Amino acid sequence: MWEDRAVSIATSAPSPVGFPEPAPSALLLLGRGVDLASERGVECVGDLPSPSDPDLVERARAARAALGDRAFILGHHYQRDEVIDFADVTGDSFKLAREAAARPDAEFVIFCGVHFMAESADILTSDTQQVILPDLAAGCSMADMAAIDQVEDAWDVLVDAGVAERTVPVTYMNSTAAIKAFTGRHGGTICTSSNAHVALRWAFDQVGGVDGTGKVLFMPDQHLGRNTAVRELGLSLEDCVVFDPRKPNGGLTTEELEAARMILWRGHCSVHGRFSERNVTDIRAAAPGVTVLVHPECKNEVVEAADMVGSTEYIIKALDAAPAGSVWAIGTELNLVRRLAAAHPDKQVHYLDSTVCFCSTMNRIDLPHLVWAMESLVAGRTVNRIVVDADDAHWARVALDQMLALPGY
Ligand code: SF4
Repeated sequence: MWEDRAVSIATSAPSPVGFPEPAPSALLLLGRGVDLASERGVECVGDLPSPSDPDLVERARAARAALGDRAFILGHHYQRDEVIDFADVTGDSFKLAREAAARPDAEFVIFCGVHFMAESADILTSDTQQVILPDLAAGCSMADMAAIDQVEDAWDVLVDAGVAERTVPVTYMNSTAAIKAFTGRHGGTICTSSNAHVALRWAFDQVGGVDGTGKVLFMPDQHLGRNTAVRELGLSLEDCVVFDPRKPNGGLTTEELEAARMILWRGHCSVHGRFSERNVTDIRAAAPGVTVLVHPECKNEVVEAADMVGSTEYIIKALDAAPAGSVWAIGTELNLVRRLAAAHPDKQVHYLDSTVCFCSTMNRIDLPHLVWAMESLVAGRTVNRIVVDADDAHWARVALDQMLALPGY
């Protein structure tokens, strides 16, 4: 393990004659062309409390107490402090989904995280449990970079190139339920940032081993796929190609697909993708003796320049185990780094980037939305329930179960 080594917008106005229709944008342009199907979560039934309500914390406590054991609140490590304060358990996406599955008596699972995480919780919990996402606009830019129709089209490209039967899909937890289901239908597995190396070895073993000619289609985070293949499996950067869904045939020739071992989806995390090699150089100059610890969603050059690389849970454990007086620069989401710094006053904990870098979608879950969701449930009104359709849920579960069957689980 490497840890051990150290929306579309609907435009209502027609295009002027002679001009092409504007392409659907992945970005939501606020205030323009409202499309309730895509601009998720902007409306809250009833009153959303004001962030400046002086009774907000008291209202949260009262609603939490009223729900009692009927509700179980999950808080992702990247959530705001004001939300984490009300979480029954904190963790990364997969730990939280398993925690939800381990609470079959909880009628409501309130997921303080992002949309794909709530989907996974819905897949892993019983049909009688309701998974609630306090703000439906809490999506994930990385997960949104792989749409199911794009992935289906990409698979057709692999079929036409004659390589699909030697390709196994490996999909990161940070993906929509539809992509997880695609993975299950095509004999692949889900992985996390902790077990990506095990998942990749298993996948290659299905098609002749790491030293053979089989391939992995890794989605949606190109950086995690590349870092794992190169650092953990001994493949080279040249063994990796990037499939760009916006280009014909992914921007790749049949020869390039034939030669590749890792076909990396062109996706990335908008938070971890910001860190640069320059950040590492700068912090080494500013904080002599610093240990640079980054998440594997960072670019390969950042990972190579760092001292240690690991998942969110690994980063937390590394700080817990670090001696007093040690100096750290952490390359992951800022809410978590700030909490780590507060929890370890005997250590120097720096943020790797000099500019602020919260995950904006994670931050959409705030105390007003949590209070609104809890008070609605207390009033007998289920809001923002996340439900994965039965067929996708079945096949996504197949892919998730394959991950659970990997060594180490
Ligand atoms: S930190 Fe990155 S991968 Fe995680 S929810 Fe935010 S955008 Fe998605």
